[in-house]
Amino acid sequence: MWEPRQPVQGRRADRFRPPHCPYEECPAHLADTRYRAVFKGSYRRLRDPHRAIPRFRCCTCGRTFSREAFATSYYLKRPELLLPIANLLVSGCAHRQIARHLGCAPSTVTRLSVRLGRHARRLLELSSVAGIDEPVVLDHFETFVRSQQERFGIATAVGQRSWFVYALQGAGYLRLHGRSRRKRALRHRPRPTPPRAVLDSSLKTLQILLRRSPGGLDLVSDDHPAYRAAVRRLAVLRPIRHSVYANPDRCPGHDATRARARDRALFAVDLLHKLLRHSQAHHRRETIAFGRKRASVLGRAALFAVWRNMIKLVSERRSTRLTPAMRLGLTSRPWTWAEVFSERLFECRVAKFVA
Ligand SMILES: [Zn+2]
Repeated sequence: MWEPRQPVQGRRADRFRPPHCPYEECPAHLADTRYRAVFKGSYRRLRDPHRAIPRFRCCTCGRTFSREAFATSYYLKRPELLLPIANLLVSGCAHRQIARHLGCAPSTVTRLSVRLGRHARRLLELSSVAGIDEPVVLDHFETFVRSQQERFGIATAVGQRSWFVYALQGAGYLRLHGRSRRKRALRHRPRPTPPRAVLDSSLKTLQILLRRSPGGLDLVSDDHPAYRAAVRRLAVLRPIRHSVYANPDRCPGHDATRARARDRALFAVDLLHKLLRHSQAHHRRETIAFGRKRASVLGRAALFAVWRNMIKLVSERRSTRLTPAMRLGLTSRPWTWAEVFSERLFECRVAKFVA
């Protein structure tokens, strides 16, 4: 069971013990137990002068640090903005609207959304360490970067029964569609489009899923040729039982039985894509809030996935307070944003834990 922890700032100063050295260069950065640091005074911040922040000196490298180095709001001048911004980013608000609502600069929202996305990607990696014991639905979510002419795919792997988001993987630019003037202009100045973007992201996603499925993987997908190719290539490592449901033609007089079977099998991933499109401003098809960088779009998608897995209830109408993580048996209750950002996640330590 993976229970939420009390936020670092809320812990009593006299009881706080640094779990490891916060400096990446120090040999004690990856320490698990028996880390030694000595108490080295305290200081008070101008914005909260009633609380003393303890300082420590690492017994391995001799450098000093404070308790704030272990908080998600490290080095922030306005740490109180972190949680409201996370909440508003998954509530359909764009950066400028969030800035107006919270009374800060739009650039502050952009900068903090990068930090939130980085933390969410690490938390998603950590939460995906447990084994997979259900069929996983794989599909690509199509979104945009900079304009509607530049399409960006995100491979999404979702548990068919739990609706837990297991993995997200960027798929480079997808082929341009449409006949607009802008597209004709782009044809003369073609952007470098990775020809195998969907295949590569499918391979990476399947590798992540296979690491967690020692007995083989039950995969459900539509009939995109890249999924079959990826399964053929990775089936030599571990057995993959692949169920394919073709996207049927939905014109009048179509075969409703096949359409219903496909919708039932891929419901978990279709629902995730609907929620993504509905809950994040930059994923809408008609907007001026498109993400500017692929990495930022992926970070915000990870933030959404953490919210979906740990905070959002599977049904907001029914009285059962159940999240996808609770369906998996990962936690015993829904988390809050404060618990999601309770402590800073260090890149090297997450990589060591996940490996
Ligand atoms: Zn150190």
